[in-house]
Amino acid sequence: MQWLQYVREIPDFPEPGVLFRDILPVLAHPDGLAEIVQELEALIRPWQPEVIMAPEARGFLLAGPLAFSLNVGLVAVRKPGKLPAPVIDEAYTLEYGENHLQMEAGLPLAGKRVVIVDDVLATGGTVAAAARLAHRAGAEVVGFAFLIELVSLQGRSRLSSEVPVGALTAL
Ligand code: 5GP
Repeated sequence: MQWLQYVREIPDFPEPGVLFRDILPVLAHPDGLAEIVQELEALIRPWQPEVIMAPEARGFLLAGPLAFSLNVGLVAVRKPGKLPAPVIDEAYTLEYGENHLQMEAGLPLAGKRVVIVDDVLATGGTVAAAARLAHRAGAEVVGFAFLIELVSLQGRSRLSSEVPVGALTAL
């Protein structure tokens, strides 16, 4: 299969003017998850991660099999109210207002090489906040990996220019 043909484009979701790329049909295909995980693994492995970190919810679907096949740790980054305290919290700005991301405090991340994974890089706010959480826990972010980069939204500009950013496809 060629996974990209199974990505569904939904106009005006979640709000008017946004063209949403839905990756869930890729995962519904029998070969879908295997194909994208193999491609992401090839991208990430040279960065020698010790931990895969991912924001909810689609990021989790990729992070689990990646951490399993790379034999590394997995850290889930969640929206407020989902994790038991104590947590580390980071705010990030949206077009209108702000959001927060949280990670459990006290995870053994000090000095660890972390790769942050998500399905789509849009404005970059989500993964930039995840990177701040990793840094606050003493980890080193050694890469960002995505299935899809929405180039016009310039998400890379919110990420450190010293850390590699990779995407399987750019739209
Ligand atoms: P950002 O913070 O980079 O603006 O937005 C990225 C986050 O929003 C990711 O967690 C991603 O899952 C979600 N997101 C933004 N746009 C899209 C989209 O077109 N398709 C999907 N599947 N997720 C999106």
